[in-house]
Amino acid sequence: MAATTRLRVGFCRPSLGSEELEAVGEVLSSGWLTTGAKASELEAEVAALVGCRHAVAVSSGTAALHLALEAAGVSSGDEVVVPSMTFAATAAVVHHVGARPIFVDTERETLTLDPEDFARKVGNSTRAVIPVHYAGHPCDMDAIRHIAGQADIRVIEDAAHALPSRYRSRSIGSIGDATAFSFYATKNLTTGEGGMLCTDHERWATQARMMSLHGIGRRTWEREGDDDAWAYEVEAPGYKYNLPDLLATIGVVQIRKLHAMQERRRALVSRYLEAFAGLEPLECPVARPEVDHAWHLFVARLRLECLTISRDRFIKELKERGIGVGVHFIPLHVHRYYRDTYGYQATDFPVAWEEYQRILSLPLYPSMSDQDSAAVVEAVWDVSSRFKR
Ligand SMILES: *Cc1c(COP(=O)(O)O)cnc(C)c1O
Repeated sequence: MAATTRLRVGFCRPSLGSEELEAVGEVLSSGWLTTGAKASELEAEVAALVGCRHAVAVSSGTAALHLALEAAGVSSGDEVVVPSMTFAATAAVVHHVGARPIFVDTERETLTLDPEDFARKVGNSTRAVIPVHYAGHPCDMDAIRHIAGQADIRVIEDAAHALPSRYRSRSIGSIGDATAFSFYATKNLTTGEGGMLCTDHERWATQARMMSLHGIGRRTWEREGDDDAWAYEVEAPGYKYNLPDLLATIGVVQIRKLHAMQERRRALVSRYLEAFAGLEPLECPVARPEVDHAWHLFVARLRLECLTISRDRFIKELKERGIGVGVHFIPLHVHRYYRDTYGYQATDFPVAWEEYQRILSLPLYPSMSDQDSAAVVEAVWDVSSRFKR
């Protein structure tokens, strides 16, 4: 089959419309493209939505995580606990501040960070933990905060998948010391690229804001109109992590549509759960009763003992039937850098390794039609039946 084959249902497509186009047009016409009023507006909207005191708009979720670790004072010699089952960014930022990531395994049921393994890995140098709300399912935050509280460990949440998620009626973004959201193109709310750092610590927010733009205290747009609008002071060697208004304005539109987009995600998930209920080779994801799941991803698991083919071949068969599929994630500890640097074996994190071999993420996004989801269901049933053991 040719590599250029167009998929019948692609893995992901952002939900953008004429409102976003119009908003971008307005920013272009305004003549103020970079960080300004629209970024501030998005900060206020996100803070109100998740219930945090401070929100700092940045250029990516990765930048938000990096700034949070720095604001938490994590530096060389420190250890930061990170699940192996996550994206590269979660552990890379630990290296960026000169610290060492300590991987932990995942819970079998939800594939979120395993609190018991976290407790086992806490040492004298542990300064922070980064729970990842995998696929949009919140981690066991009570257990994680309990362990962190006992050992004076900061909780910095990777909520790239979790806008909006809730844990025991509290929004993700209002629970830990800081929370990083991502507005990357595939995420539930997108600005193309972008992110938000949420925290109740005023000092963390002030520092993150300063470091996000060259380490300069008061910024250009805040000084506009002042007699000394030209003046600036460098307080520290900062980064270029600001979110431009050109992108922030897309987020302001998206946040108004978020409720409807989430409703559509939930409807699509219900259809999948119903359609796959009798399909033995496929295990569907669960949402624990105490959480509101953001359903960023629909991560199904294959019962390989019921099939004559591997997960990789299953994905290939779906692709040949026009269905795009992802794998979230290849655990970090089996990637070359981490194997070479820390000498990990695949089975060092047995749950992450075993589950990795049978996970696949099916298409799930608000702009999917009923026919799209029916096509996914049909293809999954077809491959499952054809290769049933
Ligand atoms: C997308 C993602 C990130 C990084 O977000 P960016 O905005 O792309 O920097 C971090 N962690 C996880 C789990 C992600 O899926």
